[in-house]
Amino acid sequence: MSAKDAPPPLPEPLLVEVADSHTHLDMQSGTVDEALARAAAVGVTTVVQVGCDVKGSRWAAETAERYGNVHAAVALHPNEAPRIVLGDPDGWSRQGAREAGGDTALDDALGEIDRLAALPHVLGVGETGLDFFRTGPEGMAAQERSFRAHIEIAKRHGKTLVIHDREAHADVLRVLDEEGAPERTVFHCYSGDAAMAEICAAEGYYMSFAGNVTFKNAQPLRDALAVAPLELVLVETDAPFLTPAPFRGRPNAPYLIPVTLRAMAAVRGIDENAMAEAIAVNTARAFDY
Ligand SMILES: [Zn+2]
Ligand SMILES: [Zn+2]
Repeated sequence: MSAKDAPPPLPEPLLVEVADSHTHLDMQSGTVDEALARAAAVGVTTVVQVGCDVKGSRWAAETAERYGNVHAAVALHPNEAPRIVLGDPDGWSRQGAREAGGDTALDDALGEIDRLAALPHVLGVGETGLDFFRTGPEGMAAQERSFRAHIEIAKRHGKTLVIHDREAHADVLRVLDEEGAPERTVFHCYSGDAAMAEICAAEGYYMSFAGNVTFKNAQPLRDALAVAPLELVLVETDAPFLTPAPFRGRPNAPYLIPVTLRAMAAVRGIDENAMAEAIAVNTARAFDY
């Protein structure tokens, strides 16, 4: 392993304990115990483990049952729903998926997400939403149908909705408005600008900032963070993705939350303890734990 692929060093511990509001432990190297121990050593004592397909959602629910400081969110990722309906171009043929009844397959998968969402240690339904970056026009209908179904599941079970919005801001806001958003809605890896942050603020949507808020070219994101009401701001890693600067490109993990949180405190012009205190309270309120 060359130095530039190596896991970044442990940052200085936070003095106020916080949560990583969105992570994928099942996609990271090492064991869950190792990841949680490393995170706890720097003050990241709670994580929300997010499932992206049926298998990952089952794993998230099981892991949350096993660890008191792991909470689960369950869903079919916006890029997973079209894959179920149309067939994975890298897997079985698209034609085959249609013959097998892709819409029925999506309904079956949603049924399993519904069952998992009822579990007491599952606090979130997501990540769901729209992704126009990875899913082309042929998958949009399946993606939107799946998004609407997840909103309904979240509301029926009284769980927090976790939104994945990639290059789809207006349509995500439209669908939320049409369906009626659940009481608690989190935009994970918030990617809108300051104008959208005002809309989210008016709707009471939480905005969870990931490592990309530290990237040089991410000024619009920092402008959004600067205007978001502090009580709606969360922090996440989305690990193993989006490692914060100066470690961009190296593997991400929950223990790197302090790096992003410190950058966020600088954007807000507040002390890191004040930022951490706000985030700790906000995350508990957002996920109702
Ligand atoms: Zn996402
Ligand atoms: Zn994610």
